[in-house]
Amino acid sequence: MRVKYALTSKGDSVSDEILAKMKNYLTEFNLVLDDEEPDLVISIGGDGTLLEAFHTYIHRLDKTAFIGVHTGHLGFYADWMPKELEKLIIEVARTPFQVVEYPLLEITIRPKGDGEEDRFLALNECSVKTAEGSVVLDVEIKGEHFETFRGDGLCISTPSGSTAYNKALGGAIIHPSLEAIQITEMASINNRVFRTVGSPLILPKHHTCLLKPLHDRSFMITLDHITRQYSDVKSIQCRVAREKVRFARFRPFPFWKRVHDSFITDEQ
Ligand code: NAP
Repeated sequence: MRVKYALTSKGDSVSDEILAKMKNYLTEFNLVLDDEEPDLVISIGGDGTLLEAFHTYIHRLDKTAFIGVHTGHLGFYADWMPKELEKLIIEVARTPFQVVEYPLLEITIRPKGDGEEDRFLALNECSVKTAEGSVVLDVEIKGEHFETFRGDGLCISTPSGSTAYNKALGGAIIHPSLEAIQITEMASINNRVFRTVGSPLILPKHHTCLLKPLHDRSFMITLDHITRQYSDVKSIQCRVAREKVRFARFRPFPFWKRVHDSFITDEQ
């Protein structure tokens, strides 16, 4: 069976040039360009470009594997550098390839009244904020009231998203082989009325977290790079998703090495 592939680019000249080069080589190697039903999606740009590619092909995660080429500094999802392009093309042409799966976050937003709920998946995280004062929410874990949060907002991240927004909020870095989600606070107010735990919480699979707004506010709910505005929210349910994201792996590049090279130093 000939492998069907799609290419996405950040849109800058360097990424577009690499895209054109890859298209030529992969066609020479007999792979089939198919933007609709690709087996393999190669995203060229950065981690942000891969997030976009993930949301473009979110309807076929079980049939599509992703690869990221980084045209800037080393990335977490985009972990191939332009200087390794020829090696990558040869590896892709030599399929079948090995696949690694990472957990995703499932978010279900339920409205007050009879409206339909919305269900989303995130590769990095979901953040809940408001432009109307503080976010005030009851936080339930596994059906039990845990705390009442008041502050700038909450971030609920996946293990692979733990190196992104979550890290900037003081969350822990979680290895993506762990099926978990992490809840981090954004500037919580702590006084006699509102008391939060203050530490990031890591929930295992099937421990559902329910956020219940206490005031009639309009919320900015961001999933990865996509922000939606919601009013009349009854609850926001967060848990590890059934679905997973699949990455094509052609060489070992351990997660902790990527963490080291991204945040400590990439000098050998
Ligand atoms: P952006 O604001 O243009 O870029 C956000 C930065 O986060 C980029 O440098 C991006 O890397 C990096 N990034 C994305 N996913 C990552 C991951 N899993 N681990 C480590 N770094 C990662 O926004 P964007 O490109 O559309 O990406 C949306 C993401 O931005 C969100 O999912 C959120 O995680 C992140 N964000 C971070 C902060 C913060 O750190 N204070 C605030 C808001 C949002 P590339 O340069 O390789 O694309």
